Amino acid sequence: SKTREAFVTLATTESYCKGATVVGKSLRRHGTTRETVVMVTPNISEATRTSLWRAFDRVVLVDALDSGDGVRLALLGRPELGVTFTKIHCWTLTEYSKGVFLDADTLVLCNVDELFDREELSAAPDPGWPDCFNSGVFVFRPSLETHGRLVEHALRQGSFDGGDQGLLNSFFSRWSVENIDRHLPFVYNLSSSSLYSYRPAFTRFGHDAKIVHFLGSVKPWNQSRGGSGSDFLSLWWDEYQREAGRSQE
Ligand code: UDP
Ligand code: MN
Repeated sequence: SKTREAFVTLATTESYCKGATVVGKSLRRHGTTRETVVMVTPNISEATRTSLWRAFDRVVLVDALDSGDGVRLALLGRPELGVTFTKIHCWTLTEYSKGVFLDADTLVLCNVDELFDREELSAAPDPGWPDCFNSGVFVFRPSLETHGRLVEHALRQGSFDGGDQGLLNSFFSRWSVENIDRHLPFVYNLSSSSLYSYRPAFTRFGHDAKIVHFLGSVKPWNQSRGGSGSDFLSLWWDEYQREAGRSQE
């Protein structure tokens, strides 16, 4: 039987759904041959879900704290792990043999299907601490066993940054030293802030950008298109406002 592979994103609020829409539209416009999936929580309105169905092959409903009934009680008192657990829910999508997770605040600039040639856990370095990977873009292998171990790890160790990135880095703790093939080039997760932190590199390599990541507290949907003069920001708004159905320009 044909193996299924998917790009997966997540939105637990109406605002993040705006970002997710851009992820789905940009993947399609660049002609991905893989399925596109957005995971949403039950609080997302019916109208928003309907519009997500236009941008994605599937809209999958996930429980915000779906870590299994057995650990639910242990979760009480650890509200900060909620969004973390929601992201690691991508490991439960076992109808796929491989997935590429993209944060809802990313923008795909070209076809990146070659990411499926990589193995779990592949990711790009975090610009703030490059011995950690940034968890905004990663290649994973859906598995209920791995999911269970991640949940257990979260309950036992927590997350050193209170989010999914701390959890995933302590779980896949050998990433920085183990296997260079698991290191994605930075252009697959180019933080928009790198433009300011190392401008000559950006000038030299920025045109190779494949996926832009608007990490940090200010998201594109909270800024006006011309606000910061960033080209990536206006590309995001172009994608957001582009009409559905115009594929592969
Ligand atoms: N997310 C979400 N709802 C939230 C916060 C985060 O759905 O309230 C998801 C969304 O996919 C987002 C990802 O978790 O892109 C990681 O959060 P964010 O991108 O804000 O973190 P950053 O990349 O800025 O560290
Ligand atoms: Mn992000």
